[in-house]
Amino acid sequence: MILVMGGAGYIGSHTVRHLLDNGYEVIVADNLIYGHREAVDKRAKFVHADLLDSLSLNNLFKNNKIDAVIHFAAFAYVGESVSEPEKYYYNNVIGTVNLLHAMLTHSVKKIVFSSTCATYGEPQYTPIDEKHQQFPINPYGRTKLMIEQIFADYERAYGLEHIALRYFNAAGCSADSTIGESHTPETHLIPLVLQAISGQRKDIKVFGTDYDTPDGTCIRDYIHVEDLALAHRLAVEKLGTYNGCINLGTGIGTSVKEIITAAEAISGKKCPTEYAPRRAGDPARLFADNTKAKEILGWQPKYTDIKDIIQTAWDWELNRRY
Ligand code: UDP
Repeated sequence: MILVMGGAGYIGSHTVRHLLDNGYEVIVADNLIYGHREAVDKRAKFVHADLLDSLSLNNLFKNNKIDAVIHFAAFAYVGESVSEPEKYYYNNVIGTVNLLHAMLTHSVKKIVFSSTCATYGEPQYTPIDEKHQQFPINPYGRTKLMIEQIFADYERAYGLEHIALRYFNAAGCSADSTIGESHTPETHLIPLVLQAISGQRKDIKVFGTDYDTPDGTCIRDYIHVEDLALAHRLAVEKLGTYNGCINLGTGIGTSVKEIITAAEAISGKKCPTEYAPRRAGDPARLFADNTKAKEILGWQPKYTDIKDIIQTAWDWELNRRY
């Protein structure tokens, strides 16, 4: 049985479904602060639990035969991590140490973890491979880097088997639009653009048009959430034969303006757009070298056309359930 911590969240819920579809037995634990109960597939067992609640964590492992953990549970707002770092160090770092403690107490030594390209900080070159220096520029990125380092220490001392997946920009929704992206507040580009198009928001503000990129707007690597889900299953299956970090991105860069143009083509509507100053801490371009994911996990992203990714997000926006 796989324990999915944070399985009611965006990437977690898609991974839970993918695991179930591939024959795994799944138990989801989530504190439902940001997660959605409706997002959890009915075939999974659900437990309301928080990373900081040691007793609940202990009971999870005592009462269920857990073979491996996939750990998504984290606070993930970069701006908030700057204004409220304690919340991030407490939940993300101490929470993970708590989880590892419960795991080791019950001799569970396998973990796949949500890390991030934010651990690299300002890119020194692109595409970014896993050897790129890690110098995160905000507390959120630092919490994820600290956890990667804790894993290496626990591997040496306790034989922990770990894979940290460093996501680039997660995007899109399940192909059948029954589960999808729903953050409050929403800060991510694609849902904001689609909500501006559908009239739920006044407009989209493009943060910076004077970057050193072909159209002046920032370039990111948008990776479909179902491709992320697939990589998590493959990573679980590789635990024990490989320990370390793996980038998850398509390797393709798309600019903010290209996202808006693609969303307009898909929806057939204009996106009300306003040009705004740069957002602090945004590098001009970020995209992945995904060679390691292909070689180690045997992973290949199915979605490599940004239009196909945005189409799934638009279908969800029109049929949103939560
Ligand atoms: N962005 C933007 N307007 C918004 C939100 C995001 O122009 O309202 C830009 C942001 O500057 C970045 C890209 O869109 O270049 C993706 O931002 P997002 O917050 O989705 O993800 P991040 O790359 O920060 O993880």
